[in-house]
Amino acid sequence: MLTKAPRGTKDILPDEVEKWQFLEREFRKICDIFGYKEIRTPTFEHTELFLRGVGETTDIVEKEMYTFQDKSGRSLTLKPEGTAACARALIEHKLYNQSLPLKLYYIIPGFRYERPQAGRLREFHQFGIEVFGSENPAVDVEVIGMAVKFLKGLGLEDLDLRVNTLGCSNCRPVYKKVLHDYLSSKKGKLCDTCKVRYEKNPLRILDCKNDECKKVIQDSPKILDYLCEDCKGHFTKVKKLLSAIQIEYTVDPMIVRGLDYYTRTVFEIISTDLGAQNTLCGGGRYDGLVEECGGPHIPAAGFGMGIERLIYVLESKGLLSIPKKGIDIFIAVLDDESFETGYKLLFDIREKGLSADIDYMNRSLKGQMKYADKLAAKYTIFIGEDEIKSNFLTVKDLSTGKQQKIGMNEIYEFLYKNIRKGCC
Ligand code: ATP
Ligand code: MG
Repeated sequence: MLTKAPRGTKDILPDEVEKWQFLEREFRKICDIFGYKEIRTPTFEHTELFLRGVGETTDIVEKEMYTFQDKSGRSLTLKPEGTAACARALIEHKLYNQSLPLKLYYIIPGFRYERPQAGRLREFHQFGIEVFGSENPAVDVEVIGMAVKFLKGLGLEDLDLRVNTLGCSNCRPVYKKVLHDYLSSKKGKLCDTCKVRYEKNPLRILDCKNDECKKVIQDSPKILDYLCEDCKGHFTKVKKLLSAIQIEYTVDPMIVRGLDYYTRTVFEIISTDLGAQNTLCGGGRYDGLVEECGGPHIPAAGFGMGIERLIYVLESKGLLSIPKKGIDIFIAVLDDESFETGYKLLFDIREKGLSADIDYMNRSLKGQMKYADKLAAKYTIFIGEDEIKSNFLTVKDLSTGKQQKIGMNEIYEFLYKNIRKGCC
């Protein structure tokens, strides 16, 4: 127990972390290009926020939340997703008074008590964006377009983008009733979860993964036939703009998303390489969320993208091989007496902004050279009695094996010239 991370959690080890940092850099870059600013919200929020913001009939709220009481009896919950917290921050700090739309992004851990399996963790991570303040279908398409461009930019070509609309508070209740009536004679065939969904939120039955349920809903009435004129027009514009920016999509009336707050556009980006947990990214519009959380009417749209799933797909396609980052200089010390001089040089070099390291394990010279190789050092500087006496350092270029003597006073100029030459 003591030496094992909790079920459904994972260490990101130093060898792996560069992949994460690379993806985080790429994500920040595209957010910058699209004009999104980062927001950092707390890891836990009042439980009430998710009951309201995610919805009481969702799997997340019913089964998956990490909820606890703090020492003064408050009910708090580790964030299962990022949107509700953004909506809360928007309301708390009246961010809607700034010029709109407000475009935010975040990189967060999410916590859900789910059955751990490939692509499904109890602590996972998400890239996410939110746009607050506009009903314009061009915003929906910007959100979808950014997710697609980001994934394509990473080299993922065969993405399956599914879009749908869930209507609004005018037309969705009508469809809900039609679906409820349609299923009334068939509910015996539904799985136990869907029997409950039938009573509470029949729409959720549409995205049940159970094969029997899939059969039952196969020929069910489709929301697209029950949209009000406004929602129909909105969806038509979304499709038109997707085509305008050359993004391929399929309209899939079975996409309903797991969270209650969606209105109108919903979408998923699926990768066939992911197996059962195949959704890389999901999102859409949620015009009622901010109001639901106690704020004014502020329409919004956004997406959440699973980073672990993204890494899995990229790796399985060989698209995530990050070259090993080496250090600039290794300082090899030839005898104990020279260590202090080498140690001082180490700190001086670091002060100049070059990366450098030295041996702390009393390795032999041979051992130090092996270690320098492991650290992928560009240069090794040798320091021994002779070097100290003569005020010259022996510098070896580890890529060519070429060795030369450089005066102590010229060493920084030499290192700068040679190490930074290939750099921007
Ligand atoms: P799924 O249908 O796979 O359970 P979801 O609809 O619950 O997904 P969202 O709440 O929309 O997922 O979260 C957005 C993205 O976050 C998902 O598409 C997925 O990539 C990732 N994600 C969600 N839950 C997990 C989890 N438990 N472990 C790993 N990634 C997850
Ligand atoms: Mg889920």
